Amino acid sequence: MRWTEAHIPTLRDAPADAEAISHKLLVRGGFIRQLSAGSYSMLPLGQRVRLKVIDIVRKEIDAIGGQEMILPTLHPAEIWERSGRDGLMGENLFRLQDRKDGDLVLGMTEEEIFGMLASELSSYRDLPQIWYQIHTKFRDEPRPKSGLLRVREFTMKDSYTLDIDSSGLDAGFVKHHEAYKRIFKRLGMSAVDVQASSGAMGGTESIEFIQRSDAGEDWIVTCDKCDYRANLEKATSALEPLDDGEPADLERFATPGLRTIKALAEAHPDIAGAEKSIKTLVYFADDEPVLALLRGDHDLQEQKLLDATAASEARPAKVEEIRELLGADPGSLGGVGVEGMTVLVDLALEGRHNLATGANEDDWHYKGVNIARDMTVTAYVDLREVKNGESCSVDGGTLEMWKGIEVGHIFKLGTMYSEEFGAYVQDPDGSSHPIIMGSYGIGIERGMAAIVEASHDENGIVWPLSVAPYEVLITVVRSDDSETLAAAERLYDGLRSLGVDTLIDDRVERPGVKFADAELIGIPFRVTVGPRGVESGMFELTVRDGMHKEELALESAAISMKSKLDEALEIISG
Ligand SMILES: [Zn+2]
Repeated sequence: MRWTEAHIPTLRDAPADAEAISHKLLVRGGFIRQLSAGSYSMLPLGQRVRLKVIDIVRKEIDAIGGQEMILPTLHPAEIWERSGRDGLMGENLFRLQDRKDGDLVLGMTEEEIFGMLASELSSYRDLPQIWYQIHTKFRDEPRPKSGLLRVREFTMKDSYTLDIDSSGLDAGFVKHHEAYKRIFKRLGMSAVDVQASSGAMGGTESIEFIQRSDAGEDWIVTCDKCDYRANLEKATSALEPLDDGEPADLERFATPGLRTIKALAEAHPDIAGAEKSIKTLVYFADDEPVLALLRGDHDLQEQKLLDATAASEARPAKVEEIRELLGADPGSLGGVGVEGMTVLVDLALEGRHNLATGANEDDWHYKGVNIARDMTVTAYVDLREVKNGESCSVDGGTLEMWKGIEVGHIFKLGTMYSEEFGAYVQDPDGSSHPIIMGSYGIGIERGMAAIVEASHDENGIVWPLSVAPYEVLITVVRSDDSETLAAAERLYDGLRSLGVDTLIDDRVERPGVKFADAELIGIPFRVTVGPRGVESGMFELTVRDGMHKEELALESAAISMKSKLDEALEIISG
C-alpha cells in the first residue's frame, strides 16, 4: 500500500479525555475513531491489526477441533428469562422492542443459544463438540472508557465445549488453556493465567488470562516463590495463628462513643485489639440481608460475598435499614443473638474465642465472644481481601499485587444451560444426561489495546510482527528525487512479490514528519531509502523494537528482509 493512497489520519495530539496509553496511541496513529462513548470505528490500519488478531485466534481454536459458527446477536428476551440471566446481568444487557412490542436483547454472551443448538444432539456418540464464533457482543457498560479497553460494542471469540461427563469437560478445558497460552504468545503478549471467580456466569473452575498493565482494572496477586497466581477477587493468603487463651464467659461492657474498631482497640487494647475484635458488615445480596463478619483488621472482598451468596449484586445496607434489622447504628453491631438472617463468618474467624463485638445496642459491646458458642452461623466462608505482602498459602512466599487487563477467560460452566434448554444425550447404557458445557472467551479489540499497553515507547506503538498492520515500512527520504523513488519502488515491488505486507511512505513530506509517523504507527521494520544510500548501495534498516539500526545491501534488500521476517515469525510461533 502507498501512503499517498492510504487513509492514515495520524494526529499530533491525543483526545483530551484519553488516559490509557493505548487509547492515546491508537487514536493518534489513525487506527480508531470514537463514535460515542464505548463505541469505535476501526480505520484501515486498525482493521488490519484486528483481522490479524482474529486470524491467530481462529487458527488456534480450529487446531483444537473448534467448529466455527455464527449466531444472531438479536435474541428474544424470553431466552434470557429462561436461563435466569435476564435479572443477573441487570442493566448490563441492552434491551429493545420490535414493532410488535416483542422484547429483545442484544447478545452479551451466547451460552443460551449454544445450549439450544445442543438440544439437537442425542447420543454420547455425538460428543465431544467444540463450537465457537467470532462475533459482535454488546454490553451496556456503566462507565465506558480507556479506548478499546472498556467498550459497549466489541468482537468476542466465544467457544463452548460440549461433553458427556466431567472428564470430557476437563479435557476440553485443558485444550483451551493450552490454546490460549499459544494465542497470547503469538499475539506478542506476556499474559499469564490466574485463578478467578466465575462471577455471574456460574460454573466451577475459572481461569483468567491477564496482561500486566497499570491501565488494567483487575488486581492480581502473585507469589514470589511459587507459581500461585490469582485475581484479588479470588486470592487467599496464609495468616499467623493467634492464641486466644482460655475461653471466657460472654459479657457486655459499656463503650460510650466508641464507634470504630480503631477507637475500641485504643480504649481497650487488652480485650478489643483489632485482631481480637469482629468487624460486622451488613449487606443486601440481591434483596436478602446478610451479615458478613471479619476480623477487625481485615477487609471484605465483595466478589467473595457475591460468590458465597450466589447473588448478582451486593450493596452495603443503609443506616436506616441496619437500624431496622439490628436495632443499633453502625459502630455497635454484632452477630451475637442474631437469628433468622444469613450470618457469614470469614474463615479467619473460625474457631476463635475471647473476641469483642458490638452488642446491637448503641454504646455497648460484648467481650469474651466465642463465635461457635454465641452465634448462629450460616456458614464459614472466605470473605477476606488479601493484602500486599501477606504470605502465600501454598509455600509461605511473599504475595505481590499488581494491576492487569483481562484478555481471556475460560471456565467450566456445568449443566445449567443444557438442563434449561433440554440438551440431553444418552450414554451407552441408554440413560439420559445433561450435556456438560465449558465456556471460553477472548475479547478481540481489548486484546489489541492490551498489546499496545504492553508494547510501546514514548514515540508510539511497537507492534509485534504477528499483528502489525504492515510488516515493513519503506520510508522514502526525498520522494521528489526520481532515482531515490525508483530504488524504493524496486524494493517495494520485490517485497510484495515475496508476500511481505509492505507500506511505502511516498509522501512529499519532511523526513522528520515521516520518521515521527513511522514510530507512531509502529511498523516492526522500517527501511529508509535516501539519495545517499542509493549512491552507496546501502539501505538503512531500523527495527522498531529498540530502534536498532543496521545496513542492507541495496541489491539483495528484499531477499534479506524476507529472511529476517521469516526468522522473527518463527521465534514468535515456535
Ligand atoms: Zn507461593
